[in-house]
Amino acid sequence: MLQPPFTFSQSSLQDYADCPRRFQLRYIDKLIYPAAETEPALENEKHMLEGQQFHRLAQQHLLGIPTDKLGKLANTPNLERWWENFLAFSQINLTGLTGLYPEVTLSAPLGDFRLVAKYDLIAVTEGEKLIIYDWKTYRKRPRNEWLATRWQTRAYRSLLVAAGGQFIVSEGGSEGRSIVPERCEMVYWFSNYPDEPAHFPYDEVQYKRDWDAMTRLTGEIQSAPSYPLTDDRQKCAYCPYRSYCDRGIQAGDLDEIEAEMEAETLFDVNFEQIGEIEF
Ligand code: SF4
Repeated sequence: MLQPPFTFSQSSLQDYADCPRRFQLRYIDKLIYPAAETEPALENEKHMLEGQQFHRLAQQHLLGIPTDKLGKLANTPNLERWWENFLAFSQINLTGLTGLYPEVTLSAPLGDFRLVAKYDLIAVTEGEKLIIYDWKTYRKRPRNEWLATRWQTRAYRSLLVAAGGQFIVSEGGSEGRSIVPERCEMVYWFSNYPDEPAHFPYDEVQYKRDWDAMTRLTGEIQSAPSYPLTDDRQKCAYCPYRSYCDRGIQAGDLDEIEAEMEAETLFDVNFEQIGEIEF
């Protein structure tokens, strides 16, 4: 049984939604990656490291480090391409805005717990609309319908509504204050598909739905007498906890996994999981 204090993130909510046992092993028993998630392991690890490096470059660029200095660090074919794509995107979409806040962390109470999110970028437009940008280095462009159901899309927007008051200067800019949902939008930008970002505006109805759902879900996690294994064995193919669940030893092949976007998320750079990045 999960007891407060515990801080939920989009990752832990998603883990519970995917498989309650995975949530237990990762967040209650605190077992970390005992097995390779997918094959080929080396290639996937390289992709993840490149994803981390790309996020560093994007952050440093947004903090004002000169582009020519940073460009030298884009030293693989993937990184070079992503970096060029990002600079072009940034030039068109991120110049002339009222404020750019890279790597912002927000948190708010959620039932008996707290919810935290670390954002790649919160951009403030002239009309004080807040745009959450999230950089994705996915190999495949996911469908918008799939993204819309992810806990990241729901938790990031709703937490910004609950705790984003500091960004609205015209209303006093108070930390911890809520804002109207219609001010928020989330944009996923894909380094491999720079011209196909996914936009998710927000409104009061969606906000209430998301916040209520998160409150219900965390209540369910808190009172769960046990954390059962998922019935969807496809999720086990790329899960690092297979050996604990007797769900196979061999890692799944990323190219053969049908639920390929879910496997892609394993190589997603997620600041909630990797913690602080050293520069
Ligand atoms: S191996 Fe399967 S059942 Fe076990 S934690 Fe992973 S997804 Fe859940």
